[in-house]
Amino acid sequence: MKTIGVIGAGLMGTGIAQTCAQAGLDVVLCDVDIAIAEKAKANIAKQLARQVDKEKITAADADAALARITPSADYAPMAAADMIIEAATEREDIKRKIFAAVGEVLGEGAILASNTSSIPITRMAAASPDPARFIGVHFFNPVPVMQLVEIIPGLATAPATLDKVRAFAQAIGKTVVQSQDEPGFIVNRILVPMLNEAAFVLGTGTAGVADIDKGCKLGLSHPMGPLELADFIGLDTCLEIVKVLQDSTGDPKYRPAPILRKYVEAGWLGRKSGRGFYDYSGSEPVPTM
Ligand code: NAD
Repeated sequence: MKTIGVIGAGLMGTGIAQTCAQAGLDVVLCDVDIAIAEKAKANIAKQLARQVDKEKITAADADAALARITPSADYAPMAAADMIIEAATEREDIKRKIFAAVGEVLGEGAILASNTSSIPITRMAAASPDPARFIGVHFFNPVPVMQLVEIIPGLATAPATLDKVRAFAQAIGKTVVQSQDEPGFIVNRILVPMLNEAAFVLGTGTAGVADIDKGCKLGLSHPMGPLELADFIGLDTCLEIVKVLQDSTGDPKYRPAPILRKYVEAGWLGRKSGRGFYDYSGSEPVPTM
């Protein structure tokens, strides 16, 4: 693969674009507004400059990686892409509209992948231009740092699509696990109910934010506490994943914690909005409860 299209220049799209560009691929990075895509490129420039400061990469490598990224507000430049990775907001209606529009530009033989955290791949494939060339490619946050990529073929995904995507993920330095198309795939099926349960523990007053996170870090040897991690992922994304687990399994054990729903309704989405279970307005995150 030589050229990758990335749709959605938020947390994940930005990380995917940076990782692909650093692996030598050309990237078209698209969002609804060119200003968002350009801001994402500026953020990537900052991340690369940090790597140069730490002497992990050379300034020439950073410049070359940055030059490979083209911000865009429409899909037309993606006609040249070998694969388009959709990394837009975790809502099926938004993703379906994107797949319909991508049909106008997706090259013959090119692959369309979704970075969805939880929405069924087979169902979205049915709304894509060619289900045989549709697949789930689930990166982890922050993409340049996290080793894992989950690959999720849908029922109609062609074996050649799976092979190409596995080779792509390995070529950009990732380790692949393969999951069946079941709700939450492997990691989020296990992780997100735990994050939701931490919100229940907070909401019922069992303990405060700091003690819940400290308890899990020290008691479970987790590098981050569940509320800190939920803030890092984005509380809106966490809520959408819990809702998908609940809707697709019909199991009430996946009902969203009321406090998680309320925070999202308040626009308290975690780190990306400046407030979630922690307040990020100062130099250090401060627990809010
Ligand atoms: P985000 O809110 O940071 O970014 C989403 C971006 O998509 C926004 O910039 C938004 O403007 C853009 N967008 C919305 N509609 C669009 C459209 N029609 N065309 C182009 N861009 C559009 O969200 P995120 O955390 O980057 O998540 C993106 C996807 O990645 C979701 O499917 C999410 O479930 C998945 N994911 C998230 C994480 C995580 O830790 N946050 C991890 C793995 C996968």
